[in-house]
Amino acid sequence: MGEDGFAGWLETAERMATVTTSELHDCHDCGVKPGELHTPGCDVQRCPRCGMQQIGCNCIYEVNNIDVDDMETEHPSIYKNGPTKQMYAKWDVEWGTRQQLWTGEWPGIAECREYGFWCLWDEANRRWMGWPKFKNITAETPGAQEDLNRLVGVCRWDIDAQKWMQRR
Ligand SMILES: [Zn+2]
Ligand SMILES: [Zn+2]
Repeated sequence: MGEDGFAGWLETAERMATVTTSELHDCHDCGVKPGELHTPGCDVQRCPRCGMQQIGCNCIYEVNNIDVDDMETEHPSIYKNGPTKQMYAKWDVEWGTRQQLWTGEWPGIAECREYGFWCLWDEANRRWMGWPKFKNITAETPGAQEDLNRLVGVCRWDIDAQKWMQRR
């Protein structure tokens, strides 16, 4: 998984979280309605294989047995131009059908609610207060938002359930 992708996903998620909580709406990036598939390349689309932002993860390379660390030297044209049609075709066979529909809320926030993961935006210090330092924020805390950092920090992505699950 690309570090930038992960950071970018959370950053966007945090930005959006301030406008989203518990209301269903069209996808912020591609504009589809709840219950529809995102359009290709949508920022919000979650990868069915790793649970992270699809445009930021390396899964398409991994299923095609391409080592991302060596890609610049071993596969310069893919490095430069992105995955080929054949690579997408291979991806689609196994993973395309597992693509999740846009639910109307940011991927992962339903799990945060279920597990009680909450954080709070600290306007004065321009940062999120949440896991792992701030543990006493609950759904009842005024202004509480779902804590996606905690979700990906303490849960694992379950491919069969297509959901972040708490580790046992
Ligand atoms: Zn979308
Ligand atoms: Zn992935």
